Amino acid sequence: LGGPEPGPQHRIRVCVRKRPLNPREAGLQDFDVVTVPCRGVVVVHEARQRLDLSRYLESQTFRFDHAFDESAPNELVYRHTAQPLVESIFRGGMATCFAYGQTGSGKTHTMVGDLSAQGQGCPKGIYTLAAQDVFCWLREPSYQQLELQVYGAFFEIYGGKVYDLLNWRNRLKVLEDGKQQIQVVGLQEEEVSCVEDVMKLIEMGNRCRTSGQTSANTHSSRSHAIFQIILRKRRKLHGKFSLIDLAGNERGADTGSADRRTRLEGAEINKSLLALKECIRALGRNKAHTPFRASKLTQVLRDSFIGENSCTCMIATISPGMRSCEHTLNTLRYANRVKEL
Ligand code: ADP
Ligand code: MG
Repeated sequence: LGGPEPGPQHRIRVCVRKRPLNPREAGLQDFDVVTVPCRGVVVVHEARQRLDLSRYLESQTFRFDHAFDESAPNELVYRHTAQPLVESIFRGGMATCFAYGQTGSGKTHTMVGDLSAQGQGCPKGIYTLAAQDVFCWLREPSYQQLELQVYGAFFEIYGGKVYDLLNWRNRLKVLEDGKQQIQVVGLQEEEVSCVEDVMKLIEMGNRCRTSGQTSANTHSSRSHAIFQIILRKRRKLHGKFSLIDLAGNERGADTGSADRRTRLEGAEINKSLLALKECIRALGRNKAHTPFRASKLTQVLRDSFIGENSCTCMIATISPGMRSCEHTLNTLRYANRVKEL
C-alpha cells in the first residue's frame, strides 16, 4: 500500500481462484482435476482417451499473478486482488475488480460473500471488505483533509440494458456527450458513512436483482452486476472503485440455442466479455485507443479504462471438477489473454 504509482504493466493483475469440490459433484462421482502446486500456478489435468480407449491425464499449466486453491478464504483473496487498489481511488484513481468465470464457480461467493449474517461467521465478500478499507483510508489524516463524501451505486446489465438495483430495477439510459463522457442517467447514488450502510445497500441491491425473477440463478448468471464505491469532493467525482460480478462466461456460448431470447442474451454476453478483454488489454499496453463502445458493459466502465490512474484486477473463478474441465480451460485461456502484454 502507498507504494509508487503503477506503470502500465502493473495496472493489470490477473488471479485465479479454485473453489472446493461440492457435495453434489462428489455425489455424482466427479473428481478434482485442478491443482495449485505453488504460488501463481494452476494445473488442469484433463482426462483424455487414446484410440484404444485407454484413458490418461493431460496436464496444462497456467501462470498468473496469484493462484488460490480451495482453502483460501475471501480475506486472503481480497488481500492479493482488490485491497492494493483501494488507496488509488483516494489519489483520484479509477479502480475495477472483476470476477470472471463459469456459473457456479464462485463469482458471487467471492464478490458478495454470504449476506445472511456477515458479522457472525458468514464470509464477507470483496464488496464489503473493500468498503471497510475505504472507511479506514478515509480516516487517514492526509485523506481526511480532502473532505470526501462516499457514495454507493449498484446496477446490473441484462440483455444489453441497464437497471438500477437501488431503485426498483429502474431502466437507465446510457448517454455519451460531445466530450466522450459517459453518463448513466438517473443512476441512484446513496451516501454512506459506515460499512454497515454499505452492507445494507448490497443487501437491498441483491434482493432487487433476484426478486420477481422466475429463476434467481438463471437471471444472475446472465447479468453483470456492478457495485461502485464513489468518492466525491463537493459533489465532483474524485475516485471510483467498480466491483463487478460478471455474467457466467458459459452463457456467451448460448448463441446456438433454439430459444431466440436466450440466443440474443448469449450474443450480448459474448460481445461484452470480448470487449472487456480488449479494453483491459488496451489499458495494460497503454494504448491510445480503447474499444469501449463495443458493449454496454465497457461503455459504462469507460472512465476506468482510460486515464493515467486506472488499474484493474481480474479474479478468474474456476470449478475443480472433471465435468467442468472444458469451461475451466476456457476461463484460464481468457484470463491468460487478459494478462498477456
Ligand atoms: P457463481 O456466482 O459463479 O455462479 P457462486 O458464488 O454462487 O457461483 O458459487 C456456487 C456455490 O459454490 C455457492 O453455494 C457457493 O457458496 C459455493 N462456493 C463458491 N466458491 C466457494 C469457495 N471458495 N468456498 C466455499 N464455497 C464456495
Ligand atoms: Mg453468481
